Amino acid sequence: MAQNGFEQTGLTNFADVAAAQQLKVELITEGLFIDPETQRALVESDDTPLTMADYASTSGVTLKLPGDVWVNAPINEFNPNFVEAPLSHLIIEDGKTYVVNGGDSQEVEFIPVPSYNDKKLEDGSPVKWIAITHSDRVRLSPVKGCTVQCDFCDIPFDRREGEPRYGGRKLIGNILEAAGVALSDPVLPAQHVLISGGTPSKRDYGYENEVYERVVTENPGVDVDIMMVPMPGLLDVKHLGKLGVHGLSINLELWNKEIAVRTMRSKVKSSRELYFDFIEEATEEFGPGRVRSLLMVGIEPIEDTLRGVEALAQRGCDPVLSPFRPDPMTPLRDMAPPTSAHLLEVWQRSQEIVARYDGVKLGPRCIPCMHNTLTFPDGTEDYYHSKQTPRDLITTQHDQI
Ligand code: SF4
Repeated sequence: MAQNGFEQTGLTNFADVAAAQQLKVELITEGLFIDPETQRALVESDDTPLTMADYASTSGVTLKLPGDVWVNAPINEFNPNFVEAPLSHLIIEDGKTYVVNGGDSQEVEFIPVPSYNDKKLEDGSPVKWIAITHSDRVRLSPVKGCTVQCDFCDIPFDRREGEPRYGGRKLIGNILEAAGVALSDPVLPAQHVLISGGTPSKRDYGYENEVYERVVTENPGVDVDIMMVPMPGLLDVKHLGKLGVHGLSINLELWNKEIAVRTMRSKVKSSRELYFDFIEEATEEFGPGRVRSLLMVGIEPIEDTLRGVEALAQRGCDPVLSPFRPDPMTPLRDMAPPTSAHLLEVWQRSQEIVARYDGVKLGPRCIPCMHNTLTFPDGTEDYYHSKQTPRDLITTQHDQI
């Protein structure tokens, strides 16, 4: 056991990895400072952003820390509500990038935004209206907005005045085109796909299923995951399994009923039994490590989060701990994010819980996709997808040409 309480197995540089884990937690809770000169050195041109900042938990910059520890570190530009004067600074020295905090310094890799961040599809609409890549995964959003409102999520609030909360379908041709652009991006080529975004209205369930089918069948060899609410008629576990969908994310979000009713009114109408029945069916169909469920950490008491972790693990589902990051667009903008101590306690106790269940780990099982979750690789072979950095991927692609 390391002095700070982190336990790792199978990793050689134990002290460095523990320090990187500690840094990740600090960056998530306190944020990162990047001065304008460093920012200019990190990006290709003055118009290239540091981050695509599309969603509450992906509003920051993505860094790879030592020991394959990935983090999405919030910055003042997108989280002025809690990133004020962070002690961690990103600097570049002799061509290398470091996070420094007082006397501590760790070399890191800055992960750029994909080159399609300012590109358009054939019909003139921006690629990023559909596809957003962070680390090694592209997220495709088939519908505009969401029929549901969760107070911690920016999707229902990210709209112009007078616009409806739910804006309906996007063109399937555009979705497939955007997926192709993201998978072949020369700067940040996506290695796998997550179809996610808002919850469609009932009349669009058939459309959403057509999107699943087309994206999977027209991208053979690419792992496609789906993150969605388990509404009957929207997700058919057996059909998705047969189709070749790689995995499912069925997010419980919160365990505490009272807080759930307050913060995700319409979503909580679906009973917990419905979620658990679906998760049980899914773990049977997809097998270990292919079904995960996200729990927000920092909105409810620790004991409630841990009850959620236990209930998911009992059903063979990987719990994903998602640190609550207050988004300035949402009603929870003024709520403080969880402290480092809160996150560390939840992580350590969750690790103890999942260790009691065969085939269950804290998710996600893709190491780069851990960037916005409270998860660290443990040196085992239980992970899939890319373990390479964008730099490695580009080198490999060029070698193959
Ligand atoms: S259902 Fe999902 S996309 Fe819709 S508001 Fe809730 S968290 Fe956001």
